[in-house]
Amino acid sequence: MSASDIAANWNEVRAAVPPKVEVIAVSKTKPLEAVEAAYAAGARSFGENRVQELVGKHEALTHADSGRAHEFEGLKWHQIGTLQKNKVKYIAPFVDLIHAVDQAALLDEIEKRAGAGGRRISVLLQMHIAQESSKFGLSTGELEEILERIGGGAWPNVEVKGLMGMATFTDDNAQVAREFGGLRQVFESHGAKRNWDTLSMGMSGDWRIAVDQGSTMVRIGSSIFGSR
Ligand SMILES: *Cc1c(COP(=O)(O)O)cnc(C)c1O
Repeated sequence: MSASDIAANWNEVRAAVPPKVEVIAVSKTKPLEAVEAAYAAGARSFGENRVQELVGKHEALTHADSGRAHEFEGLKWHQIGTLQKNKVKYIAPFVDLIHAVDQAALLDEIEKRAGAGGRRISVLLQMHIAQESSKFGLSTGELEEILERIGGGAWPNVEVKGLMGMATFTDDNAQVAREFGGLRQVFESHGAKRNWDTLSMGMSGDWRIAVDQGSTMVRIGSSIFGSR
């Protein structure tokens, strides 16, 4: 897809999504030029789901050693997909937000790498809201266990900013709305007293439903960069 198509798509998406909802441009599988085109059009937060690709793009564009970091001021990288523990160390120095934290062991590893690097790392806890068992995420019981440990002082260098969830892939909009609406309720019931500000739900195909249900952050790939 050409840079001008990407810019036009970005502008269309940004204009359609309510201003208070953040749009993460999901650039996974797309070349550096695609990131550059979206950045030039105004996108600032980019989502990737493979660590190797995320690190490669950071090293090429935004790492101090790239010589190009000044061209991409304010560009933030989000890790949006399932993250393996042994890969945390590669993104810990620069990642802005990790969306899909779904187990305490991953928090242990993020804590270790954050502490070692002298930074606090922001994360979202991923909840399982879809019918498909192939989708990842915490049950409400598991969420409560993690929140209890945080209340007790666990993971001081990890900042939980809210929740993330992926709805079932279905044409049944009412079901998708129920799943997102359920997640919003969990977000509100646990988030109010914890100053959570981020509810990441909605992709190219279902962001309108997600926004209706209270999403504060949508992750849009194909509607900006074309199909993969
Ligand atoms: C790929 C991906 C997206 C974006 O999907 P599109 O349908 O292309 O908008 C959003 N979230 C996650 C976790 C993804 O892996």
